[in-house]
Amino acid sequence: MSDTAEKLPKVKIFATGGTIAGASKSNTDNLHYQAGSIGIQGLLDAVPEIHRIAEVSGEQFLNVGSHEIRSQDLLKLSKLIQEQLDEGLAEGIVVTHGTDTLEETAFFLDLTVKTDKPIVIVGAMRPATAISADGPLNLLQATALAANLQARSRGAMVLLNDRIQSAYYTTKTHANALDTFRASEQGSLGFFQNATPHFYYSAANPTGKPQFNCSKISELPIVDVVYSHQDAGADLLQASVDRGAKGVVIAASGNGWASPALELAALKLTKTGFPVVFSTRTGNGFAIKPIEQGIGSGLINAQKARIVLMLALASNYNSEQISQCFNPA
Ligand code: ASP
Repeated sequence: MSDTAEKLPKVKIFATGGTIAGASKSNTDNLHYQAGSIGIQGLLDAVPEIHRIAEVSGEQFLNVGSHEIRSQDLLKLSKLIQEQLDEGLAEGIVVTHGTDTLEETAFFLDLTVKTDKPIVIVGAMRPATAISADGPLNLLQATALAANLQARSRGAMVLLNDRIQSAYYTTKTHANALDTFRASEQGSLGFFQNATPHFYYSAANPTGKPQFNCSKISELPIVDVVYSHQDAGADLLQASVDRGAKGVVIAASGNGWASPALELAALKLTKTGFPVVFSTRTGNGFAIKPIEQGIGSGLINAQKARIVLMLALASNYNSEQISQCFNPA
């Protein structure tokens, strides 16, 4: 190994599958393909330039479409990453991931890994076999970001399509387009010029971001999401309780209103101490709720509010502490 190679920062890549590792029978078919077909070595082989940026080591954590990823996988991944960083084995972490639930994994890692080192979650919208596949450049940039000192103390980040985004705020907004990850109110943290990141602001973390310690959590409770609409009844909420959910998030309309049947059922549950969190299905803005009627999720969307609630329940938080996770004083 040359002197230069020895000086490169160490970046650990955990591969989980997704379209970035997807293969299609035809290089012009971006719709019918098998996510999670190509292994970590195949991903690295597609972008040999990566070895000029960092001393990379890869690990195949999973190889699936991201709709198959479960919260137990997230718990395990978070602990593995914490271990890598605590033991000084990596200066930064990259997780390759399907884009469908990428924001959930990114958010989970943001809330649970205690570090100032960069954790970058990367995916692709076109399979690896496609003409103009976006995966190789995304992976190169994600690795460059994980290796970059300027990327520290910004929380976990999402990297696709040249944009650096906060894992806390960003969400998938388009089922097909390359430019799908957005935080329309909060914007991007920065962008890439070739393999060089450019940040708009100096390092900061989202206001009031809760932090959870996974080292003592061995299991996450069931928390369901129930979608409200004009005719929403209470039966799906009740079905969640019956199947053992320890909390429910309602994807409510506007700033936190559910249908009358759901509101009433949620109120009854809230009075027994069962946590019901109201988020907004609008995609932006605050969901609010008087504490005696439930918990407003603030700026956190339903799929992310579910993660906060699972972690808060697993940490034995009381209702006041749960509420503070969403609405810090
Ligand atoms: N269905 C894929 C997945 O989430 C989509 C993607 O990766 O873009 O695994």
